[in-house]
Amino acid sequence: MVQLSFLGAMSSVGSSGILVDTGVEKILLDYGTKIQDTPPKFPISIEGRIDALLLSHAHLDHSGGASIFSARGNGCTTYAGYTTRELCRLLWTDSIKISKEEGYDLPFTKHDVEKTLAKFMPTKFRIPVKLHKSKVTLFDAGHIPGSVMPFIDTGNKTILYTGDYKIGSTRLMKGADTNLPKVDALITESTYCDREHAERGSQENELARIVRETLSNDGVALISGFAVGRIDELLLVLDSFGIDYPVYVDGMAKKAITIINEQKGVLRDPKSLDKVLQKVEYVTSHQMRKKVIKQPGVILSTSGMLTGGPIAWYMGKLFDKQNCSLTLSGFQVEGTPGKTLLETGRFINEEIDVEVKMRVRRLDFSSHLGRKDLFDFINKLNPEKVFCVHGEHTEEFALELKEKGYDAVAPVANNRIFDI
Ligand SMILES: [Zn+2]
Ligand SMILES: [Zn+2]
Repeated sequence: MVQLSFLGAMSSVGSSGILVDTGVEKILLDYGTKIQDTPPKFPISIEGRIDALLLSHAHLDHSGGASIFSARGNGCTTYAGYTTRELCRLLWTDSIKISKEEGYDLPFTKHDVEKTLAKFMPTKFRIPVKLHKSKVTLFDAGHIPGSVMPFIDTGNKTILYTGDYKIGSTRLMKGADTNLPKVDALITESTYCDREHAERGSQENELARIVRETLSNDGVALISGFAVGRIDELLLVLDSFGIDYPVYVDGMAKKAITIINEQKGVLRDPKSLDKVLQKVEYVTSHQMRKKVIKQPGVILSTSGMLTGGPIAWYMGKLFDKQNCSLTLSGFQVEGTPGKTLLETGRFINEEIDVEVKMRVRRLDFSSHLGRKDLFDFINKLNPEKVFCVHGEHTEEFALELKEKGYDAVAPVANNRIFDI
């Protein structure tokens, strides 16, 4: 009998974590944080031996709690895709920095982070790795560079955990591997189970239009994006439209792009970033920041929801400039300055509360699959059992799947342990 215990991301996004007990091994699938909360929340805690951690990708909602085990003395080998270790190093170090700035303690130290990173086993797609009894294979998830869908074959049962995934290629990524073995139990993310994304081509056209219009008005086209994967994607889009330069990149994305470009094998077009980066300039000092806003240009910066990072500084300088624009390139969580700006037209954080005169637009460059792809994926896989996690509407999603004849369930706090 194989037992699945859901530890987080039940009916919500954040703190992903699932424990798979095969009777022989205890295998952990992700152990993230809920980054919207201050201090961040972790999944339900697990004691005792863990044989392996299979990390779907570096985003903190999936990886942010991994160092807790090193801190408690039950650390284990972490299997993950290439680039994930270095992206984790970047994001985990940053989360410690933020905790110090905001004055709360995390349940691990920089030393524990180093111990966890030392036990990483970067693993190639589609090549099985033997644990004690089970075999583990990582399939490309197409979400961000290094993202994988771990597949466990216990000998009796097969389990696929999607992590976050995207079907179909983008400029940066090839898209998830859908050529998969027979799956008994599927654990799928449900972020967009209730809606479709805007067609990507239309979003690219709109981005190019906004940027061109801003440049022709001698303005600065400010674009916010997530540090890992998103700014790279946007640079490739701008390049494909032959946008007039200068194009600047600021914030954590600079380091993330460098890490991603070192593992070209995970990219759709391995040489693409090299070509783009020849034309892009990194903003490396505050002096330079002050300079680049004085001339027409494109600035891509973090954070994606305007919660911090250089984008907040740029907003403070450009908010009243009608010839400038701000493009938000992804989903804005309730309560973030990005969401507030879309709803009220004001940019509000601890330091500033102003009416924004720039042209503001949100576009959808999501790296998650939409509703139709989600159902098509499940239909193709035709698993015996489906567990719906990582979404605001997991219970409705499970009900819909049940109506289509699937044995589907959305784990919730008081019903979260299942035998398969
Ligand atoms: Zn993710
Ligand atoms: Zn996620």
